Parts: sequence; structure tokens; C-alpha cells
Amino acid sequence: MEDKRSPGMKEQRLRRQRINRMKKMIVAVMSFGFLSAIALCIGLTVQVVRLNQRIDALTEERILVQESGQPENPVSVLAGGDTIQSKALDEGSVSEKQKDSAAGEDPEAENAPQEDAKSPAAKQEPSRMDNPSEEDTAKKVYLTFDDGPSQVNTAAILDILKEKNVKATFFVIGNDNDYAPDLYRRIVEEGHTLGMHSYTHKYSSIYDSLEAFQEDFYRLRGYLGEVTGVEPDIMRFPGGSSNSVSNIDMRECIRFLNEEGITYYDWNVISGDATSQVYTADELIDNVMKDVAKNQTSIVLMHDAETKATTVEALGPMIDQLQEMGCELLPIDENTKVIQHISADQID
Ligand SMILES: [Zn+2]
Repeated sequence: MEDKRSPGMKEQRLRRQRINRMKKMIVAVMSFGFLSAIALCIGLTVQVVRLNQRIDALTEERILVQESGQPENPVSVLAGGDTIQSKALDEGSVSEKQKDSAAGEDPEAENAPQEDAKSPAAKQEPSRMDNPSEEDTAKKVYLTFDDGPSQVNTAAILDILKEKNVKATFFVIGNDNDYAPDLYRRIVEEGHTLGMHSYTHKYSSIYDSLEAFQEDFYRLRGYLGEVTGVEPDIMRFPGGSSNSVSNIDMRECIRFLNEEGITYYDWNVISGDATSQVYTADELIDNVMKDVAKNQTSIVLMHDAETKATTVEALGPMIDQLQEMGCELLPIDENTKVIQHISADQID
């Protein structure tokens, strides 16, 4: 009996062992599968985050190129813009002075097609153009710095401007670092013009909806008012008024700014300090001098950011050369001729 039972029990034991082994294997396989799935999820999440960052970086790069270059196709943004604009001129929506000088042809029109959108604020601010013959007067150059304040460069830029006794315009973003409030205040106290450039400078959020744009706008205006006591009445759109990254029709933003009494400025001269091509300080100066030579009024786009050391390096000699050329260097004010890639006048 025992002999008979023994092999049976042995077999049972063996079977149990087999079953146990199988169970262990199943558990191991399942654990492995489970862990693999988790690892895969983590991997994919990391990948998604990386790709998102890449998209942001590419968007940023693209917009910087745009911001530092000409609008890709300013007219296409608002079909028939030119027609509307000349109509506006015909209909006398500009001041008498402006009519006089615009009566025949705009002296700059041929040389600076990018300056085609002029005047918008003419309606609100009748004195926007120079007296009577622009060509008799010195060239006007408005140096503008976007994206500041920056910890490294704003103070250096301000020092150079002070040393040269030149006033400029800063289109700032919302910077809540400890060092920033003093810099905003220095800009104002030293007689420069403080303009807005959006709080976050994040295209994906600012241009996500009109509400988002408005929220960002109020946030920056409120912040600057709090810090400096001044609420700016000028703005530069991140990417310019003709940027092509906005999800919303830029005309909606323009309409909103018109309602708020804000004049926005694009540019007609670029230093090239934010292009993908890296220029030396001398090249930045050359870029500016070349374009300034073509315009009676130049709004020069430069950047005040941590990485823009060459802009700082170029600034002093650039000012010297502009002054030697006989240019008047001015901060943007209500008398500044408006340079806009999409004219505010074209918006109802
Ligand atoms: Zn910018």
C-alpha cells in the first residue's frame, strides 16, 4: 500500500511543484509585463514632455526670427489692407499736416515698403507726423528694446544710454524677480519710454484666445502701474502685429488695444540680434545703419535679454554712428510716427 501511495503522493507533490512553478512564472511574467507597461508609460510621458518642449522651442525660434525680420506677408494678413489704407488717407482721416506731407507720395514709401502701414493713431493723435517736409528735418531714430528687463543687460543698456544722453523705448515683459522692479523704475526715472510687450511672452497662452490676451494685457499693465506708478499706453505685440503664430485673428487684439487707447508699434529696422544667424556687434551696427539710411523715421528692433551681450556691445558705437549721421535719437512718444505691419486704422 505504502509503495502504491508513495508514487501517487510523489506525483501529486511534483504536480504541485509544477503548478507552483507555473504560478510563479505567471506572476513573474505578469509583473514583468506590468513593470514594462509602467516603464513604457514613463518613457512615453518623458517623450511627450520633450516633444512639447521642442515644439515650444521651435515656435520660439520661429517667432524670434519673425520678430527680428519682416512680416512674412503683412498684406496677406489683412487682404486689401493697402486699399483700405489709401482710402483712409483719401477720406481725410489724417491730420492736415499729415495730409500735406502725404499729399503726393510718401517719401519713404519706395524705400521702405515695410513702412506701408502708417498712421493709425493719426485719428487719435493728429500730430503724428513731422512738420511739413520730413526730408528737411533730421532722420528720427527710435531705439527699442524688447523682452526686458534682464538681470545682466538692462542696467548696462541704461548706463550706456545715460552716458550718451540718449532716450530709448523699452517694451517690457512681466518679470517678478527681485532685481526687476528697480530696473522698471530706472527705465521710467531716467526718461525712457516704458512700453508693454505682454506679461508672459508665451505665444501659446497669450494668443490662445482674446480673453487670454486681455488677461495677460491687464496683468502686465497692472503690474507696471504698481511698480513704477506709470501705466504705459504703448505696446509691441510679441512677434509683431503680423505674426503668424497667433491662434486668434490679430485684428481682434488690435480692436481691443484701440478700445483701450493703446498704440502699438512694430518696427522697420532690425538689428538682427534675435535671428538664428549670430551677428557680431559690428554686424548688428551695419544692419541698423543700412536700414536707417533708407528711412526718415526708423524704429529699431533690439532685444534686452540675458543672452544678448552683443546688443549691449553694439549699442555705444551704434549710437555714435547714428549721431554722426545726423540722426535724432528719441524715445517713442505721442508725436512718433506709427510703424505698424497691420495698421490699426484698418480695424473697425
Ligand atoms: Zn519679444
